[in-house]
Amino acid sequence: MPPKSTPYWWEAAPPIVEPLVPIPKTTDVAIVGSGYTGLGAAITLARAGRNVVVIDKLSPGEGASTRNGGITSGNLRLSHAQMTKRFGSDRADAIIAEAVEAREDLYRFIADERIDCDFSLAGRFSGALSSSQYEVLARDSDYLVKNFGIEAYAVPRSEMARYIGTDLYKGGSVRMDVGGVHPAKLHSELLRIARAEGVTIVSKTSVMGISNTAQGYEVATEKGTLRASHVVSGTNGYSDASDPWLQTRIVPVRSRIIVTEPLKAELMESIIPSKMMISDKRKLTYYYRPTPDGTRLLFGGRDGTFAGDPSWPTDHLRHEMAKIFPELDGVGISHSWFGYVAMNRDMIPRIFQKDGVHYATGCCGSGVVWLRWAGIKVANKILGVDRPSALDFSPPASIPFFRGTAWFMPAVFAAMKMQDKLAARLY
Ligand SMILES: Cc1cc2nc3c(=O)[nH]c(=O)nc-3n(C[C@H](O)[C@H](O)[C@H](O)COP(=O)(O)OP(=O)(O)OC[C@H]3O[C@@H](n4cnc5c(N)ncnc54)[C@H](O)[C@@H]3O)c2cc1C
Repeated sequence: MPPKSTPYWWEAAPPIVEPLVPIPKTTDVAIVGSGYTGLGAAITLARAGRNVVVIDKLSPGEGASTRNGGITSGNLRLSHAQMTKRFGSDRADAIIAEAVEAREDLYRFIADERIDCDFSLAGRFSGALSSSQYEVLARDSDYLVKNFGIEAYAVPRSEMARYIGTDLYKGGSVRMDVGGVHPAKLHSELLRIARAEGVTIVSKTSVMGISNTAQGYEVATEKGTLRASHVVSGTNGYSDASDPWLQTRIVPVRSRIIVTEPLKAELMESIIPSKMMISDKRKLTYYYRPTPDGTRLLFGGRDGTFAGDPSWPTDHLRHEMAKIFPELDGVGISHSWFGYVAMNRDMIPRIFQKDGVHYATGCCGSGVVWLRWAGIKVANKILGVDRPSALDFSPPASIPFFRGTAWFMPAVFAAMKMQDKLAARLY
């Protein structure tokens, strides 16, 4: 039987089909997008007494926020050295410190609000494909311990079997501040809280455009116009032509996840005895983890179609999974789905403004921690209550000859694959 094309997560927490509500005439804050970003902002604003309307063209959460791997990585694509080169060492330190704060804030929120999302602070193992990658991981671990007091350490190849049962990696590292959630349960809890705080959720309604007026903004939707004093845009990888300015700056990239049929307990124990979240140092990286009930492996990576063959993306991930764990060759795949992440030119998630509209976007593949946090930061900016955020940048640069269709991604993927091959062979 072919795998289901809907997320595994939707079995326990399907997207909620909201009763259709009319577009209100006015509000304090209109928010476009009902994922982690939109709801993070909405809850913060509603708790400060603001009237908030969230509008989404799909059902709430049907974008990436119920489709992801649920790894609370708060990752940054750039290394500390790369960020120092681009933004200076103070800004690089501040961004990393903010990632630590954002992750802690999510964990506190889950505990304080008694959020039922299968959260487990299991830790994350990163695998090295070469000895030089292992040295980088070891140095990064030292940096996290010394500068942020995070429990992090290198794992030499000789000790790797305690964490992961593979011969592919030449060692790795562990950081214990990263864990896993059930992303769709997390989203449905955010939605429950937002509703309880009086936020109006308007689903299945596309925003067509936003314009400035003397009193604030007019948000034109397919079902009527909403006047708002402030507007937040949280559309990330699902941004569309309704915002042509943003569309030249944010690159939507498809990411795919497959989930195995339930595996024998001894097999799960032999492949990931640590029960950790896993990724590796490849540029075209793969991320994987046990499902929260510990019975299946969830394996994610890039999507794409090869020569128009629709089964290629699933077969490709299955093949890569078997390269790491040969004993999984031929196991059944129950689910295979994709969603969109959002890249930008300098690969930093960020908040910014254009003509007074607040944007929080550009997850670069890691948004469970980052984008709820970015939504809160934008909300606090509107409320005028927060200290500056290291994510508060100027808008991302536009990309030449790009307007929504990432025609250049096959070439980017090919170059990354080549770099990965070289890195694994040369060092
Ligand atoms: C397959 C996959 C795996 C991932 N794994 C991880 C992971 O393990 N860890 C991690 O940290 N991150 C992961 N991510 C990234 C993470 O899921 C996202 O960064 C995060 O969910 C983005 O939240 P968001 O609210 O900004 O956007 P989304 O949840 O994508 O929501 C954006 C919303 O905007 C709406 N919208 C867009 N345009 C309009 C319009 N014109 N009118 C009305 N509504 C509009 C869309 O309908 C959508 O619902 C993964 C993503 C994918 C796709």
